[in-house]
Amino acid sequence: MKNYDVAVIGAGPGGYVAAIRCAQLGLSTVCIDDTRNASGQPSPGGTCLNIGCIPSKALLDSSHHYYRLCHELGEHGIHAGDVSIDIATMMRRKDKVVATLTKGVAGLLRKNKVTSIAGRARLNGNQQIEITVAGDEAKPLISAGSIIIATGSVPAKPGSIPLDGDRVVDSTGALMFAEIPQRLGVIGAGVIGLELGSVWSRLGSEVTILEAIDGFLPAAEPDIAAETRKQLEAQGLTIRLGAKVTATRVSNAQVTVAFQDSDGDHQLTVDRLLVAVGRKPNTEGLGVAEAGLALDERGFIPVDEHCATNVPGIFAVGDVVRGPMLAHKASEEGVMVAERIAGQAGHVNYNTVPWVIYTHPEVAWVGQTSQALTAQGAAFRAGQFPLLASGRARAMGDTAGLVKILSDSRTDRILGVHIVAPNASELIAEAVLAMEFGASAEDIARTVHAHPTLAEAVHEAALAVDKRAIHF
Ligand code: FAD
Ligand code: AMP
Repeated sequence: MKNYDVAVIGAGPGGYVAAIRCAQLGLSTVCIDDTRNASGQPSPGGTCLNIGCIPSKALLDSSHHYYRLCHELGEHGIHAGDVSIDIATMMRRKDKVVATLTKGVAGLLRKNKVTSIAGRARLNGNQQIEITVAGDEAKPLISAGSIIIATGSVPAKPGSIPLDGDRVVDSTGALMFAEIPQRLGVIGAGVIGLELGSVWSRLGSEVTILEAIDGFLPAAEPDIAAETRKQLEAQGLTIRLGAKVTATRVSNAQVTVAFQDSDGDHQLTVDRLLVAVGRKPNTEGLGVAEAGLALDERGFIPVDEHCATNVPGIFAVGDVVRGPMLAHKASEEGVMVAERIAGQAGHVNYNTVPWVIYTHPEVAWVGQTSQALTAQGAAFRAGQFPLLASGRARAMGDTAGLVKILSDSRTDRILGVHIVAPNASELIAEAVLAMEFGASAEDIARTVHAHPTLAEAVHEAALAVDKRAIHF
């Protein structure tokens, strides 16, 4: 039986990053992952690269170009005649982006001398792992001093809304539609529902999003959520809150969706339905019981702040443990665990994990919301700046959005930064760094920002905390 210092199960952003960091630190490392691409080749990168972050962003970019050309470039004097979109080409481009990046991850693992095994791992107890490779009867065993579980998550599948893989699909299906559905229903106004709903809406689908709870993006700052909803509705998305889907039926190439809201029972008929009601941790067939691992009531592997499980020598990172299901959170946990296995003091600052929703405008935030601070009885000040007053946003013709900064009333330390703006995913990095360094709003206010940039809106929001914004 081959023995390694570290065995990593799963090659998503949690697993492959952990494996590379272990190898950098001189640990003999194996990484086992069972994902294969359409040609049957191993395809490391996990949900994120294969069916998550990357393909969704590729389609968001393609659909954004198309939408702009159809609806927004006229004011720049750009007219392209009859504009059309070839979905097959758009999908091939997306697949190429995914293939390039997954090959890149395979190359990185190789260059770092991580042993990659394309197979399904099952814990056997005593730090041993049994590996099943498709089409191979032999089930080799390996052992490792430390095991890192990074098996990720899978879409939640409520029994009342069965998927048929054609008309009723999960996010993976909605990344692969061969044609633009005339009417698309989306169940769930979470990140995935909003992003993929945006893709197909921009391409021409009539999109209706049904969301069970009454609030829109309840985890976001209220002003930011309200502005996001306004912009998405202006783009043509129909968002019905307090609408709980109870059943679906497929017949005659249509899907009938039964839902309830405060007015009673309703039906919606669509051509395709995306079920985006959340994701659940993936521990199926992993042998958690054999390894003596606990699971919490929602199926997550309980871990401490350093991602150690209840079994000494076994760690778990990413979507399979508590915390936000975000790729960068998984990767940072992977690095932390690798460094701790190597005897270093790795850590993750969970207070500064940024959230992003890649709609247009994009939504991004870090730290606390005003509701959370009010609930804690914290005294804070808020500064806000609208993109309408940004010279760069005006020049771009993209003025929807705002930046809001919350800081401690006494110390001025930044407690939260909330953005809805073009490129909010990039703008938030400044706020994350500021919070990581324990900066005050005054620190950002006294930092020179290039002109004209969208980042000036962050600068002005920081000035506004002290009621001295210049341009608004
Ligand atoms: P995963 O990426 O899920 O990887 C786990 C891997 O382990 C998979 O390859 C799986 O096949 C493999 N595996 C599982 N069990 C076994 C086993 N027993 N043996 C061998 N292999 C196994 N996050 C962001 O931060 N930004 C985004 O823009 C974003 N967009 C998203 C869009 C969509 C449509 C989806 C679905 C998700 C998105 N996410 C995004 C979330 C992100 O993909 C996850 O948070 C991230 O992939 C979690 O990483 P992970 O390493 O924990 O697990
Ligand atoms: P997230 O967990 O962020 O991916 O978002 C999933 C969303 O789906 C949540 O906002 C849930 O409230 C919503 N949801 C879950 N079940 C249903 C349902 N049966 N009908 C409508 N919305 C639902």
